[in-house]
Amino acid sequence: MKEMNPLLRSFLFIIGGEIAIEVGIELLNSEEEDITDEGITENIKDRLKNLKPDIIFEDNDGEFLKLNTVRKTLYKLYSSKLAQFRRIRDKSTGWFIYYWWHEFDLFEEILMEKRKLMETKLRERLKFEESNYFFVCKECSSSSNKFNFDQAFELNFRCPDCGGPLEAQDNQELIQFLKEKIVLIENLDL
Ligand SMILES: [Zn+2]
Repeated sequence: MKEMNPLLRSFLFIIGGEIAIEVGIELLNSEEEDITDEGITENIKDRLKNLKPDIIFEDNDGEFLKLNTVRKTLYKLYSSKLAQFRRIRDKSTGWFIYYWWHEFDLFEEILMEKRKLMETKLRERLKFEESNYFFVCKECSSSSNKFNFDQAFELNFRCPDCGGPLEAQDNQELIQFLKEKIVLIENLDL
């Protein structure tokens, strides 16, 4: 059995729970030839019946694992760009047979992309918060409005809703929070 990268494992779990990890393991171990959803279902059943007999994938009716659950999971992996399939029409039944393979090599790339995107967003927000000093009205709840200095100046530092004073809002906490998040993402070990 091939070992699965722990990060990939957690990612699969987030996508589709315990069953997504098991489906992932089957895809990883059938790299030599593409496998059908039925094949995956049977393999998981064979592998886990003795190893983890307590595990329950189906909560309704006592069945251990349904083909449909595996199919749904495969589509989740497909939507996350972690799996691909090709289909062939069975000449005798007229139904399609789906052959699956993993695209886990793309996983690292996807993660890197997500990380970059998140970092960019956080940096933009930080820049915005740092360069914008906001004024708010603490007297009325209806004015959840934030005014930058120019706007507050225009308003003579008076709330347009209630006439109360506009006070500078302390966003140092938020700035600190954003900075910490950025450091965290930068130091993620992939
Ligand atoms: Zn007000």
